[in-house]
Amino acid sequence: MLICAATGNAGKLKEIRRILEAQGHQVKSQKELGITLEPEETGATFAENALIKARAICQASGLPTLADDSGLMVDALGGEPGVYSARYCGRHGDDEANNDKLLERLAGVEEGKRSAKFVSAVCFCLPEGEHITFLGECPGRVIFERRGTGGFGYDPLFVPDQVGLAEGGVRPNTEGRTYAQLEAFEKDAISHRGKAMAKLDQDLAAFLSRRQATLFERNEKFDGDKLIRTPRQD
Ligand code: IMP
Repeated sequence: MLICAATGNAGKLKEIRRILEAQGHQVKSQKELGITLEPEETGATFAENALIKARAICQASGLPTLADDSGLMVDALGGEPGVYSARYCGRHGDDEANNDKLLERLAGVEEGKRSAKFVSAVCFCLPEGEHITFLGECPGRVIFERRGTGGFGYDPLFVPDQVGLAEGGVRPNTEGRTYAQLEAFEKDAISHRGKAMAKLDQDLAAFLSRRQATLFERNEKFDGDKLIRTPRQD
C-alpha cells in the first residue's frame, strides 16, 4: 500500500520509511507530496497529537497516512519532557539544545535513578476519516554524556534495556550502548516506534477488512487508493 508519512522530522521519517518498507509498503513523505502543513500539536497525550497530525496530513494528501507522536519520559523528572520532547529547550526541533537541557535537569541525579522510557503513538488514518492508533514503549535510562553518532533527538543519551538481534528476537543490552550506537535492526526491534508499528502491521489487514465491510454496506469500494461509489438501488 502507498502510505503518506506525516512528519517533517528527517530522523523520524528515515525510521518510519524503513519500518514500513520492511513491512512491504511504499512510502511518500509529506514533503515529497508538496505538503508543507505543520499541524499544531495541541493534544495532552501522544495519541491525541498523533491523530491531529495523521488527520490533517491525510486530508491534504488524500492517501492513507501514518503519523507518529513520540517522546522521552524520565521518571526522576515526573515524566518530562513527554509530549514537549521536540521543544523541551523552548525551540522546536533543536536536538542539541534539548539534550543539553535534559542533562542540566538531571544534574545530580545518580546512576540508579535515571530510569526513563521512550513512548510512541502511531496513528494510521484513511481518507474517509477512519483511523487506528497503537502505542509502543521502550524502557531504559539516561546517561551522563552523549555517546554515539547515529539516529536523532535524544538517541545519544538513551540506553535501552534491550537490543534487537539480526536473526529476530531481542537480548539484554549488556554493553550499555545508546540508541545512537545501535544498528537499524537493533533499534527497530526494541524501539518505541518499532513496537507501535509492529502492532499496526499485525492489525492492519483486519482493520482494512472491517473497513471494507463498512464500505460494502454503503455500496462503496476501493480501487487501489481510489474510492468508487455505486448508487444504491433501493
Ligand atoms: P514529535 O515530532 O512531536 O513527535 O517529537 C518527537 C521528539 O521526541 C523528537 O523531536 C525527539 O526529540 C524525541 N524522539 C522521539 N523519538 C525519538 C527517537 O527514536 N530517538 C530520539 N529522540 C526521539
